[in-house]
Amino acid sequence: MSDLLTYTGLEVREHRLDTVLSYHGTSTDLNEKGKNGALVCPARYYGQCGNCPESCAETRAIIMRDAVAISHAPLGCSSRAAEHNIAFRTVCRQRGYEVKNIRYINTNMSEKDTVYGGAEKLRLAIREADTRYRPKAIFVLSSCAAGIIGEDLESIAGEMEEELGYPVIPIPCEGFKSTVWATGFDLGYHAILWKLVKPPRKKQEDLINVFSFAQSDGFGPLLNPLGLKANYLTDLATVETVSYMSEAAASVQMCTSLSMYIAHVLEERYGVPEIKVPSPFGIAWTDRWIRAVAKLTGREERAEKFIAAEHERIGPEYQELCEVLGGKTIYVWGGDAWALNIINVVKEFGMKVAGLNLNHHDVKVDSDTEKVPLDHLTEAAGEIHNTSICNKQPFMVYKILKNLKPDVIILRHGGNPVICTKAGIPTIFEGDVNFGIGYEGTLHLGKHLHSVLKKKRFFEHIGEHVRLPYTNWWLNEADAFYFEGAGTK
Ligand code: SF4
Repeated sequence: MSDLLTYTGLEVREHRLDTVLSYHGTSTDLNEKGKNGALVCPARYYGQCGNCPESCAETRAIIMRDAVAISHAPLGCSSRAAEHNIAFRTVCRQRGYEVKNIRYINTNMSEKDTVYGGAEKLRLAIREADTRYRPKAIFVLSSCAAGIIGEDLESIAGEMEEELGYPVIPIPCEGFKSTVWATGFDLGYHAILWKLVKPPRKKQEDLINVFSFAQSDGFGPLLNPLGLKANYLTDLATVETVSYMSEAAASVQMCTSLSMYIAHVLEERYGVPEIKVPSPFGIAWTDRWIRAVAKLTGREERAEKFIAAEHERIGPEYQELCEVLGGKTIYVWGGDAWALNIINVVKEFGMKVAGLNLNHHDVKVDSDTEKVPLDHLTEAAGEIHNTSICNKQPFMVYKILKNLKPDVIILRHGGNPVICTKAGIPTIFEGDVNFGIGYEGTLHLGKHLHSVLKKKRFFEHIGEHVRLPYTNWWLNEADAFYFEGAGTK
């Protein structure tokens, strides 16, 4: 795989990982059919909304502290910039960095540019980025418009790199390139591996690469007691720390859907081992994850002491949470691996999973591990009924929720909480994915669930009074999956 570190050397997820975007059934059926090559992905012939790979690729570039991201795109493609900016400013404050805006430029491609080409505009934007920010690297993101006219980003970036004397990195992330928006994460990481990551100067035995989003420091409190340092990548990182991620003792991930590609290439190309047990969500998986990291770095004794002390510390509060949450029903909606991690936590609390909705499902993984995330979840939590896959389709999820009537919902992506609240069900928007990490994160999550359950009547009240944008025909239609076609293998 790492032999293909070139501009266009990465296959999209639907070809590389057999990713599917629609399904309904059970978790074990999904897993088994995927493994046997029998998973039919029904085409959905109506879609209400979604993301695109460009918006995911830009998240890998935009939040590095000394780089600039340029979208060579019409202005509308940068509609998420304000959201990224709020996230960046918040996390800078949270993590003790100077609070700044993101460094981001859009070339504002016009209709005229799509006829005569936008190369000159892009060169201007790159020079402007250099003058305005004096960055250590510039990322250039493609878009549908740039891709359709065949704008030669690789040549322009190469020419500008020579002029400026530092990396100018093109990312071929046209929105139409993949129906799976998470492909954008892979494209962003691929460009970083291709142009920025250097061979190690020397190994740093106490450095652990942490692939996650720029959010609270959930991993530090698990790694520091073992004498290890978290190297958060690539959000909030610098070009220097990104360049030498090859020196780390291991790589860990908040969610394999985000970063399994880069973790695997680092292992294959630079011998940085990937921790292949599930991420530290829930007590049992946190214990297992700490032991796996400790074994790899020769810190087993410290790990056992730390685990025992943490169990003792959180024990009483954890038991109280199990008592108040046990038996409550929950619906989980999120990305492939994150949602499975959360199910592990809530099952440990004794909650019942009413249903699971994934934004996509990767049938295969990039890593050479024998088990995919669904195998781990099945071992830990058994069968999940009412499992579905739909890439952010609120009109479908509303009907699923009305049918299942869970006590509470937890979800991960902005925008989605609105429809759940309109359904009148207590909802948690878990925007900070590191908030639920480890022992302390398990307590955070439990307390958050308990607190929102107490607001049941508030959500019911909203549900009783909102007007939905759907026709009576759709609201009365019994089948939430009405728009799924016959599908193809
Ligand atoms: S799908 Fe294409 S046009 Fe739409 S936001 Fe993404 S890159 Fe822009």
